[in-house]
Amino acid sequence: ASFGFRTVPEDAKESMVKEVFDSVASNYDLMNDATSFGVHRLWKDSFVSSLRPGRKGPMKCIDVAGGTGDIALRILDHARETYADRETTVDIADINAEMLKEGFRRFKKTMYHNTPQIAFHEANAQEMSAFPDNTYDLYTIAFGIRNCTSIPAVLKEAHRILKPGGTFACLEFSRVGNPLLSTLYDQYSFSVIPLMGTVLAGDRDSYQYLVESIRKFPPQAEFAQMIREAGFATGKDEDGGAWTDYWGGIASVHKAVKL
Ligand code: SAM
Repeated sequence: ASFGFRTVPEDAKESMVKEVFDSVASNYDLMNDATSFGVHRLWKDSFVSSLRPGRKGPMKCIDVAGGTGDIALRILDHARETYADRETTVDIADINAEMLKEGFRRFKKTMYHNTPQIAFHEANAQEMSAFPDNTYDLYTIAFGIRNCTSIPAVLKEAHRILKPGGTFACLEFSRVGNPLLSTLYDQYSFSVIPLMGTVLAGDRDSYQYLVESIRKFPPQAEFAQMIREAGFATGKDEDGGAWTDYWGGIASVHKAVKL
């Protein structure tokens, strides 16, 4: 299949995204390391360690578009290592069974396997009716929301399932402000990443799609506004307020609180 992203109508997006992640699931972790030179690990570490400053008690968390469990595993490790907390739980929700299977396989090798601390759910971020209202202290979504057809629908569901006072936290590729860095980054992502997709995973189209989906995602301030429109409170609209840029905006973290 060809994923010429700009020509794909919105209603076909979901099945195409499913195909992309079916196709990349088994190589996903390797490709993440190769395309980002391992930097995604540093971003994920910073993201997770910023999520519960000083908060000692166990948390009920959901990691949406959780894929192979990178964020969930870090949340549980961070809770245990920093707060000696073995009661925090993470529900991983993802639309793609292949990604979840990879995650399950990976968790089997950890101390969390077969404990109430981790659970896997096949679910669409836009329609989470299997999850009750006001349930979670923390909702995370990392490199996932840009793949969803409707960002407002995702935010609405996030708001619904969070408890009042609960935190929404999103890590996503974003907009680079500096023009020189932006040019270099464009060249790298449009030529090198699809090439790596071909060489390492035998799959150029999926990686081309992933790069293009990054360019279509709203810039930081626009996304912060969408978050507020879903009923969340954010900090002031600037870097370090409503969001924090990583590497000049290659990625950014948006955090917000359900009122
Ligand atoms: N959060 C993981 C990480 O940071 O490594 C996985 C990120 S991966 C780039 C994107 C994930 O989003 C895939 O596992 C894909 O199946 C999932 N996804 C795409 N659309 C989704 C939707 N509508 N609802 C839930 N998950 C979705």
